[in-house]
Order: sequence, then structure tokens, then C-alpha cells
Amino acid sequence: MLVSLIIPCYNEEEALPFLYNALCDVRKEVKDHDFEFIFVNDGSRDKTSEVIKKFAAEDKDVRYIIFSRNFGKEAAMYAGLKKSKGDMVAIMDADMQDPPSLIPSMIKSIENNEADIVASRRVNREGEPKIRSFFARMFYKLINRMVDVEIADGARDFRLMTRQVTDAILELQERQRFSKGIFAWVGFRTKWIEFVNTERIAGETKWSFWKLFKYAIDGIVAFTTAPLRLATYLGFGFAGLGFFYLVYYFIRAIILRIYNEVPGYPSLLCFILFIGGLTLMSLGILGEYIGRTFIEVKRRPLYVTAEDSDKNS
Ligand code: UDP
Ligand code: MG
Repeated sequence: MLVSLIIPCYNEEEALPFLYNALCDVRKEVKDHDFEFIFVNDGSRDKTSEVIKKFAAEDKDVRYIIFSRNFGKEAAMYAGLKKSKGDMVAIMDADMQDPPSLIPSMIKSIENNEADIVASRRVNREGEPKIRSFFARMFYKLINRMVDVEIADGARDFRLMTRQVTDAILELQERQRFSKGIFAWVGFRTKWIEFVNTERIAGETKWSFWKLFKYAIDGIVAFTTAPLRLATYLGFGFAGLGFFYLVYYFIRAIILRIYNEVPGYPSLLCFILFIGGLTLMSLGILGEYIGRTFIEVKRRPLYVTAEDSDKNS
């Protein structure tokens, strides 16, 4: 059986040699399987391409794709999955935060037919700013309340899956990929393994807080239309409130004969600002969905390949 390991790489020249050694150890350990290591260079600005090509020159199990620019990890994962030929396929980070030493046991689990997917979840968020962990937890609470599938907190992209699952994932050809959602959406039996988070071995993380925030919004918009409904509810709520307000003043004027009351400027201003804000927010939510529809209908490819190990050898 062939096992494909996909490694998306963005500026990982320092980390890759460590990872490659670890992968070779895995290959030695699991003798009854063939391996292919698929490196996807996602437009790195450092010497990542050279490092990968050096591996490929000395090792026939190494295959690679080099993107024409940075398309993001989601695109890199998709490209790797598409290129993979294995009966089992794994995705892992280049920085050793996804321990390669877990792979043999993951392979066993699938072989023993315990699950179709062996996915990993980290049990702590050490080495990460407190505020970031807080927002991450909030995000998972929020998104799970809105979507139908369960999106696990702390789940990493590191996972091993059968060919069947891989093909199911490849069927989802949306441009705005939110893998955590896609993995959950395709279903199948998942076995979770937990491990303790470690710091990356070299280089630095590519995720700024702002990038994560945008990723969170992308995730929600890609998987649920619940925010659109929120705008509807708010609209109904405030229209109802306005109606009661009207009735209230009407009755006051007719029964209590109070109609030349001037004060009320602050409350009026508050209402105008608040409702104006809600209107803009609703428009913004609408815009998010319309914008995404626009991007999807263009049907651009997810990535552009500059070099491919299968095409120039
Ligand atoms: N990565 C990528 N394209 C990007 C950003 C990241 O292919 O635009 C890769 C990166 O090389 C690494 C993995 O995605 O192998 C995870 O990135 P990182 O370690 O920065 O994320 P973190 O572990 O902090 O979530
Ligand atoms: Mg990392």
C-alpha cells in the first residue's frame, strides 16, 4: 500500500531538513508500506524550492509542486491532495508541530479498520498568546452554534485518511476553502488522537492575529448562512419595537393629551445611531456573501503551478 504525505511549505527552508529526516525515519519504521512525500512550495521567498529539489534529486519518493506565488495553505493542501496517489493520504505541517512520529500508529488505526480518518487535536494552546487562545475558543463556540457539522476545537489539519475520504474532499471544489469545515462536512468515521502543542522548530508562524480574524470570518461565511438570518431577525425585532413605540405615543397623545413634549433628543440620537449601525452591519453581512458568490462564479483555479516534479523529469 502506498502512503502519501503532503507537506505545504511557505518559507520553511530551515525547518524542512529536520522534517525530511523525521519522515525518513518513519519510512524506515513502516517497512511494509511505500511512501511518497509531496512537498508543495506555496510561493516561498526563501530557498525552500532549492531544498525540496535537493531532496527530490536524491530520493525517488519525493515529489513536489512549486506554485507561481503564495496562494495560501488551503490551496497548497488541495494541490497536494490532488497530486497524491496513495491509498492513505496524510497532511502535515513543515515545522514539526505535527509530530511525524505519530504516523505509524495512525497507519495502524486505518489498517485495523478502526476509522476512515485519524485526525489530531491538540489539548493545550501553550506557546500562544493568551488573548489569541481566548478568541479561538470563542470562535469555535460561535461557529458550532451556527453550522450543522461539528467543528472540533483545537483540531489541526494534521490527519491521515483513506483514498475514499481524500476523493470526497477533492469533490468539493469551492475556491474559498475552509478545511476544518470541509473535513467535518465530508463525514466518515474519525478517530481523534490528542497531542501536546509544541513550538515550531525553526522560522516563525505565518499567522498574525488579523489573518486569523479574517480566517474566522471566512470559515463562518463559507459554512453557514446563519448571519444573514441574524439580519432578518434584527430587522423584525426593531420594526416591532418601532411599532410599539408608535402605539405608545399615539395613546399618550389621545388619552393623556401629551403631544408638545420636546425633550428626547439624546434618546432619538441613540436610536438613529444604533439603527444606522445595524443597517450598515446587515449590509456588510450581505456584502460578505455577495462578494463570495462573485469569487466563486469566476471559477478561477485554486493555484497556478510553476514547476511540477512529474512534468520536468
Ligand atoms: N503555509 C503555507 N502557506 C501559507 C502559510 C503557511 O503553505 O501561506 C504552511 C506552512 O509552511 C506550514 C503550515 O502551513 O507548513 C502551517 O503554518 P504555520 O506553522 O505558520 O501555522 P501555525 O502552525 O502557526 O498554525
Ligand atoms: Mg506551525
